[in-house]
Amino acid sequence: MLYRHALKKPLSGHRHLGKLLSNGIIKYGESTPQMLKMKNVSRRIKTFDVITRRCFSTTCRKWQSTEVPFAKMSEDQQEILTSERPVDKVDLCIVGGGPAGLAAAIKFKQLDIENGSGELRVVVLEKAPDMGSHIVSGVILEPKALRELFPESEYYDENGNGIPLPPDLVTKVESEDLKYLVGNVALPVPEPPQMINKNKNYISSLSQVVRYLAEQAEELGIEVFPGISVSEVIYSEDGESVIGVATKDMGISKTGEPKDTFERGMEFHARQTMFAEGCHGSLCKELIKKFKLRENRDNQTYGLGIKEVWEVKPENFNKGFVAHTMGYPLTNDVYGGGFMYHFGEGLVTVGLVVGLDYKNPYVSPYQEFQKMKHHPYYEKVLAGGTCISYAARALNEGGLQSVPKLNFPGGCLIGASAGFMNVPKIKGTHTAMKSGMLAAEKTFEEVSKLPTLEELEESGIEKLVEQPINLESYEAAFKESWIYKELNEVRNIRPSFGATPLGGYGGMIYSGIESFVFKGRVPWTLHHHESDATLTKPASQYKPIDYLKPDGKISFDILTSVSRTGTHHDDDEKCHLRVPEQDLEKHAAKAYPKWKGIESRFCPAGVYEYVEDESSPLGVKFQINSQNCIHCKTCDIKVPTQDINWEVPEGGDGPKYSLT
Ligand SMILES: Cc1cc2nc3c(=O)[nH]c(=O)nc-3n(C[C@H](O)[C@H](O)[C@H](O)COP(=O)(O)OP(=O)(O)OC[C@H]3O[C@@H](n4cnc5c(N)ncnc54)[C@H](O)[C@@H]3O)c2cc1C
Ligand code: SF4
Repeated sequence: MLYRHALKKPLSGHRHLGKLLSNGIIKYGESTPQMLKMKNVSRRIKTFDVITRRCFSTTCRKWQSTEVPFAKMSEDQQEILTSERPVDKVDLCIVGGGPAGLAAAIKFKQLDIENGSGELRVVVLEKAPDMGSHIVSGVILEPKALRELFPESEYYDENGNGIPLPPDLVTKVESEDLKYLVGNVALPVPEPPQMINKNKNYISSLSQVVRYLAEQAEELGIEVFPGISVSEVIYSEDGESVIGVATKDMGISKTGEPKDTFERGMEFHARQTMFAEGCHGSLCKELIKKFKLRENRDNQTYGLGIKEVWEVKPENFNKGFVAHTMGYPLTNDVYGGGFMYHFGEGLVTVGLVVGLDYKNPYVSPYQEFQKMKHHPYYEKVLAGGTCISYAARALNEGGLQSVPKLNFPGGCLIGASAGFMNVPKIKGTHTAMKSGMLAAEKTFEEVSKLPTLEELEESGIEKLVEQPINLESYEAAFKESWIYKELNEVRNIRPSFGATPLGGYGGMIYSGIESFVFKGRVPWTLHHHESDATLTKPASQYKPIDYLKPDGKISFDILTSVSRTGTHHDDDEKCHLRVPEQDLEKHAAKAYPKWKGIESRFCPAGVYEYVEDESSPLGVKFQINSQNCIHCKTCDIKVPTQDINWEVPEGGDGPKYSLT
């Protein structure tokens, strides 16, 4: 079937490692990305076997932490855990192989090949087991950035128009609807000209596009390593600049002790490190705080996007048709909207984005999505079809005013790690890619002036740069770019939904005027004053919401959905969802009385549970089923107590998306 093509071709960026080994560029200890990868491959085979056989966990983690504090471990264990890491030196290190990271890598290498020695080393580190398998998007692609990245392509038509992607990856938008759903009806809404997709944009699976981009990157000589989680930023001795990153140790048990399979992570030192972790990256969170990148900027705000891919009956399929809906099932005080894209051969993506600034802790974005599919506008398309994939991921909604400072000594933020989502369009891929390309251009300008890595080695110089590269020029280029212009035009639309007591209605009226008349040419900017977590109100102000039971045809229970993500984390692995001291009881005592189990409702993968427990003073016991996590980052963003920290798990863990 179209869209299922060639998903399994393994990337082989590590072929470069052989060369590096023989050149002695890598100071090897015991582990290398190659070894880690090989281990991942065998783990993946094992994983698949486990996934096909197991039921998803709902009761696995103990009430109290079973972790052994480092100080109580044996001397041997302490030594193993703190042993020196092998170091590899590169020109450019990119954390995250999504559209932004790959666009940056490709642009940098293109410049090196065209204008430089062609020998600069670029490494892309990606936590997903295969490139693209942690990517969740709609996706309707605006081809602008892709066309700039590949000005010549065999896929353009005779007039040079089109998108530089293989035709079996994309479906041109041919018709579209914007509707307001109320009761059982779907009312037409006029579409602002800048939001129109018809005859301009393309429907695809971003997961597959990323896989294709990774192949293009490899062909240019970029070293692409899937299955590698980056868990640490490495700072200079004075702590003032970033000199690289470290990959996550593998083989730590759930008690926190090294297993027989333990492998120490590896350090990549780079002249410039780009962080392209996508929305709410775990390292970016640390960097934004450390370098005060959010000073004089607004909070970032978020939405949670939940989607499924269906194979629908031929009579319900309308190739190239896209629909966006507002209203039902969301109430007027919850921001969000639905989408439905018909693409490929008989495939339909259906999804719902829910703004995470919702106040009522009883709201469940997952259940709202299940409910939405039962509206006749959606159900008539899905009826008789088969759901083949499920996915969820947070996305940025703050817009221009929430974009942090982009550069700091030694590194920069690119793509959704910084923001750049055009919320009214629900598009961020083109802006994410463009930001990566701008950062790549500015990095190349700096790095190409420096002696090569080989020259440094020959002269016995350890430091990769005399002075850390602080890419002010990237921030300046962003302000001059079409990303800035585009985001500036829509900057007031999303905040207008929370700005008046009229809620969604007020936002719709204001947005209509902005989109058709003002187009951003107003002297004011609406701000995001509070975070999504602090906007959440106590449960005592609301009544529990009684969601419908799933029918197993159109709507599904959460564990059935999770089984469609292929997610996996080893049962005997340290929990990557961290609460202080891993004391679940303490978290529950702080969170449950006021928010009555909000975690179990905002998580789209059933990771958090409060189960009845008469022995507990709360009457419930908090559990974290971390094996089910699909890396959407919602818990870290929305938990009102702000004490859940999403840490990157071992490389190769997490979902195995291929169509999302
Ligand atoms: C439901 C939904 C619908 C959307 N619809 C559209 C649409 O129709 N059109 C559009 O243009 N955009 C859409 N977007 C937005 C678009 O998907 C994003 O803007 C885009 O994916 C951002 O690209 P990125 O490379 O910055 O981040 P991502 O695509 O998130 O990629 C980041 C990568 O980094 C990896 N990573 C993260 N942390 C680490 C780490 N520590 N170590 C190693 N690897 C790491 C991740 O696994 C991931 O592969 C949508 C988003 C969602 C969630
Ligand atoms: S545990 Fe957190 S990151 Fe994982 S799926 Fe649930 S909300 Fe998302």
